[in-house]
Amino acid sequence: MTREVDLNKVARQHLEMEGFFTGFAVRGKPQASDANCDPAPESPPADPQLAARAVQRIAASQSSIRNLLSAGEAGKELEAVAAEVAQCRKCQLGSTRTNPVPGEGDSRARIMFVGEAPGADEDAQGRPFVGRAGQLLDKIVAACGLKREEVFIGNILKCRPPENREPRPDEIINCLPYLQRQIEAINPDIIVALGGHAAKTLLNTVKAIGQLRGQFHEYYSGIGRPPVKLMATFHPAYLLRNYSEQNRRYVWEDMKKVLTELGLPVPERGKS
Ligand code: URA
Repeated sequence: MTREVDLNKVARQHLEMEGFFTGFAVRGKPQASDANCDPAPESPPADPQLAARAVQRIAASQSSIRNLLSAGEAGKELEAVAAEVAQCRKCQLGSTRTNPVPGEGDSRARIMFVGEAPGADEDAQGRPFVGRAGQLLDKIVAACGLKREEVFIGNILKCRPPENREPRPDEIINCLPYLQRQIEAINPDIIVALGGHAAKTLLNTVKAIGQLRGQFHEYYSGIGRPPVKLMATFHPAYLLRNYSEQNRRYVWEDMKKVLTELGLPVPERGKS
């Protein structure tokens, strides 16, 4: 799937938008309603330098979109994020953690799972979802007919909050840009937000996970970038604490919607 971008057209729109804020007028084909506009060629825009700068800016922002990023470039960006996370001291968690947990998986993943924050096992190993909740997530991924290496698994916070306490708003604000860059680099077809913290943060809402789960939402990564579909579902740790047939069915229903949306086969549901 390649997204074709007509840079001249986008540059023109960009200049018009800029003109809206700065008073700079883009000259183009006069409109019937535009009595004071001098006749000028329709394209390229009147000021070639400005147009060139706009094209450069747009090309730069476009280059962070997956379809213009090669697999290698996306992988490099993920490595760059991981290296920055390893150095990060924007909040105190950078000093209290044992290991940073930037996330792991395929830089071309179609599905990106996003949890809350590393726990004790993840902190010890520097890998996401490797404790009990992680084992259940592995089962969910396997039940979908997928391998763990085929998806990307990350978290809102990259460092463990002491005693597994809830992430604080300032920690989320400091850490979120790392996840945003990971999402931009991978540009998955679907984000699966695991639990309320991930869903509420990515959707910028205060709604409860019970209200959010089961339907597709849209995650916006920035102006000019197409939204990414987001499915919210229960966190595996919540499922472990509330291991009812009903809750497991809910999660399976959510994952079936994800598979169907991706055009992937929906396996028969296993016992676990
Ligand atoms: N819970 C999370 O939210 N993330 C992990 O990585 C592990 C447990």
